[in-house]
Amino acid sequence: MSPPLESCPALVLNADFRPLSYFPLSLWSWQDSIKAVFLDRVSIVSHYTHVVRSPSFEMQLPSVIALKEYIPSARRPAFTRFNVFLRDRFCCQYCGTPFPTHELTFDHVVPRSKGGRTTWTNVVTACSGCNLVKASFLPHECGMHPLTDPFQPSAFHLQENGRAFPPGFLHESWRDFLYWDSELEAS
Ligand SMILES: [Zn+2]
Repeated sequence: MSPPLESCPALVLNADFRPLSYFPLSLWSWQDSIKAVFLDRVSIVSHYTHVVRSPSFEMQLPSVIALKEYIPSARRPAFTRFNVFLRDRFCCQYCGTPFPTHELTFDHVVPRSKGGRTTWTNVVTACSGCNLVKASFLPHECGMHPLTDPFQPSAFHLQENGRAFPPGFLHESWRDFLYWDSELEAS
């Protein structure tokens, strides 16, 4: 039995045949993919076995599509909670433990009460336990130094980190275009 249409997204590649984004993986719904095909914005690289029909046309659902026009990635990634976690590979920068996103928070290395700013170079990923202990101390006051000094990451750096986190579902036709660190380690 074929899967429902809703679970048939297309992997979206840039014009250089690399995914637009690894994490979250760039996926479009089947409706958006077909729309883009008709607007001639993408070429179809691979198909599902699913066929969609209307009175006037019939087509196999695309499973991999590539943009015809190259989209350059932003050189300076946005300063968001998610991107801070991704830069730090979802690991608390004090105890080194990885956590799911909802159990992570961020910590000001120089506390705000002591003039610390909310910037790439003063904010690190922390678990709530470490965050609580560090409180509003300076690193040398409590002996807690971040494992890596916080820095402004490049888009490339975040993209590379995203490859360490493959999504739960991968269609077989996507594998040729993805390269996950986990597979590298397993082989
Ligand atoms: Zn911790």
